[in-house]
Amino acid sequence: NFELAQRVQSLTPSTTLAITAKAKEMKAQGIDVIGLGAGEPDFNTPQHIIDEAVQSMNEGYTKYTAAAGLPKLKEAISNKFKQDQGIDIPASDIIVTSGAKHALYTLFQVILNKGDEVIIPTPYWVSYPEQVKLAGGKPVFIDGLEENEYKVTPQQLETVITDRTKAVIINSPSNPTGMLYSKPELEAIGEFCLKHNILIISDEIYEKLTYDGHQHISIAQISPELKEQTIIINGVSKSHSMTGWRIGYAAGNTAIIKAMTNLASHSTSNPTTPSQYGAIAAYNGSQQPVEEMKNAFEERLNIIYQQLVAIPGFTCIKPQGAFYLFPNVEEAAKLTGYEDVDAFVKGLLEEAKVAVIPGSGFGSPKNIRLSYATSLDLLEAAVRRIHEFVNQKL
Ligand code: PLP
Repeated sequence: NFELAQRVQSLTPSTTLAITAKAKEMKAQGIDVIGLGAGEPDFNTPQHIIDEAVQSMNEGYTKYTAAAGLPKLKEAISNKFKQDQGIDIPASDIIVTSGAKHALYTLFQVILNKGDEVIIPTPYWVSYPEQVKLAGGKPVFIDGLEENEYKVTPQQLETVITDRTKAVIINSPSNPTGMLYSKPELEAIGEFCLKHNILIISDEIYEKLTYDGHQHISIAQISPELKEQTIIINGVSKSHSMTGWRIGYAAGNTAIIKAMTNLASHSTSNPTTPSQYGAIAAYNGSQQPVEEMKNAFEERLNIIYQQLVAIPGFTCIKPQGAFYLFPNVEEAAKLTGYEDVDAFVKGLLEEAKVAVIPGSGFGSPKNIRLSYATSLDLLEAAVRRIHEFVNQKL
């Protein structure tokens, strides 16, 4: 019969989807909507990466690879850890996956037993709770407070740990807030996790996008003990504008990576072969394009941030990384007569023709998320529309 399994019955569809679908529908009707929902860089993949993938295919490298990925790519990733974080992670402790998303999915599948708890700081990336639940685990939320730049502290972790706590997720730079954990903050969280033997899942997918002198630090680079306690998740999607190539990876504990590899051998077989060749070029080739994209994001951020916080009822901590702004607009929603931020977002789309993502999808209902992974012209036009929309209703 057609009855669905329980595990998918409780799955909630991506909240970003509904608003994006509505914006697309309006566009198809010829309505001039500006979409700020994008979770991907608007730049093309650098040409030398594309060339390498094409060449590999022309040379006949179009077959299966090892389940954990091409040895040459794992070597390139291992070198990257050495160079960027100063840590030794051998290629054998790395699995290449079909995007960072699937690295996380596979990780939860191999570490969680039914009822095991994973601490997820709020605001969170939408897929964490669903992936934990799909693996039979229980998401446990703690609020990153606005006054602490939406970051969590060991004192907060202390209030939620139980004997079922298996792991905590740290996402720095953060989607959606754009905030980075400092070294002392990571040291404190790390000490707590070591003391209670909690696994640290460090999602570093926005590592290369940091601004205004802020530097990404991996919790795994703080001490050898913390390196042992951490599984790093990363990939080329955001750093090298390769979202469609689907290449990510997990790195850390030998037994966990081995179990993930076994699971991958029965699910994906291997990440797409030409994409892996492209990723080798991404890591072994020039990093100049990465720098250029980062600079473009920073320029946009600096311009658009000022315009955004000038809107009545908008407050926003200036992001230090990634490519999102996450203003608190609770006051703006109130001032303009909406019952909540979700309704305000609906009004923005229908009347101002600007699509943003409601913070409720990230567990943070006072905020909205705007992506600046779009041209400066469109960004400025969008913020102008939002400003006028609010002004008209004051
Ligand atoms: N982690 C975070 C915080 C993200 O924002 C994303 C993508 O939006 C991912 C992981 C997944 O990246 P990938 O495209 O490599 O699957």
